Amino acid sequence: MTDVLIAGSGPTGLTLACDLARRGIGVRVVEGRRAPHRASRGKGLNPASLETFEALGAAGRMTAVGRREIVLRKYFDGAYISDTAVADGLLIGQWQVEEALRERLAELGVRVEYGAGLASLAQDAGGVGVELSDGTVIRARYLAACDGGRSTIRRLLAIPFEGYTEPEQAMVLGDVRAPGLSRDFWHQWYTSDSGGILLCPMPGTDTFQLQASPEPDGRGEFLPPSEEGFQRLFDRHARMPGIRLSGAGWLSFWRVNVRMADRMREGRVFLAGDAAHVHPIAGGLGMNTGVQDAAALARTLAAALTGPAGDEVLDGYEAERLPAAAAVLADTAQRYERVRAAVRTPGRGTEAGRR
Ligand SMILES: Cc1cc2nc3c(=O)[nH]c(=O)nc-3n(C[C@H](O)[C@H](O)[C@H](O)COP(=O)(O)OP(=O)(O)OC[C@H]3O[C@@H](n4cnc5c(N)ncnc54)[C@H](O)[C@@H]3O)c2cc1C
Repeated sequence: MTDVLIAGSGPTGLTLACDLARRGIGVRVVEGRRAPHRASRGKGLNPASLETFEALGAAGRMTAVGRREIVLRKYFDGAYISDTAVADGLLIGQWQVEEALRERLAELGVRVEYGAGLASLAQDAGGVGVELSDGTVIRARYLAACDGGRSTIRRLLAIPFEGYTEPEQAMVLGDVRAPGLSRDFWHQWYTSDSGGILLCPMPGTDTFQLQASPEPDGRGEFLPPSEEGFQRLFDRHARMPGIRLSGAGWLSFWRVNVRMADRMREGRVFLAGDAAHVHPIAGGLGMNTGVQDAAALARTLAAALTGPAGDEVLDGYEAERLPAAAAVLADTAQRYERVRAAVRTPGRGTEAGRR
């Protein structure tokens, strides 16, 4: 029987796996995808995450790729206004964080098992039995649900995910090339009456992460993200006719979603990361909060597996992380409102969402 089965190999699941494996605890990681993704997604590590990764022996790989300082270059109605330097963490694509953690995990003797996600589970006094979507059966002492915002495990356990989701898309997102555009700046173009577009150069790649206000069609419905749509948005806000966007890889959209699970433990099953809480991206706290969940859960499970596994030990995780999640939800909702208000003033940008 495996000590800990982890469902999901995003930053939360991989951090937990590394932390348990380095303590000599038996761990398996199952992942529904067929292979790792290469999307920039969460692109900032804060000092607390870097400290956690240092302890896991994974930080060196990340700092070798990432960038410590970035200058936000702000434009308004197409005109350059000002620059703001920010340096309070590490700019790095989420896929590169995950790659560094997978490499560290492989050194510790564990490989992610791809291609079949957790489909059902049942627990008893001695452990948790799980069936994957390909029929594989696994038994473990504990199960960690690190399976993201749409968590199957949270739904199987009927754990409420209270909060709100705004009906309209807030942003389209993607990774694109923009030959001729300087990679020295995180470019932020805002337009007085219609939102804006942001292009952030992702270290270790030739792409930028694009974030933009969605584009309405003739009837006011938002168009799905596409390379052609990105170019139209770029032309409208940036007004730099020489720049042609190309090679759009990841294409996505984002809407405001502020929700958290009403508990993070159900018997031998624990929720961590986006499976337990989702919130606005302003301030860049999603992945970072999941990393701290993982570190706390590793401490709890290590204590339970090496000593008496009483409820007071197992409840320690939720006692620490549920209030932390509630605080992050309130904090990021305020940061997001600050950014929304700030960008109407020339020279202001995403730094309004930082502390
Ligand atoms: C544009 C953007 C910018 C962001 N910026 C930041 C930032 O600067 N800083 C920050 O901290 N965060 C940021 N975030 C948020 C961050 O991306 C998420 O919070 C983070 O991915 C959560 O990690 P996770 O491991 O909990 O979940 P996920 O990354 O969603 O990973 C869950 C994994 O579980 C797998 N899975 C799903 N179902 C199953 C199943 N049944 N069985 C097995 N596996 C399953 C999925 O395939 C996936 O690999 C940003 C997000 C976006 C979109």
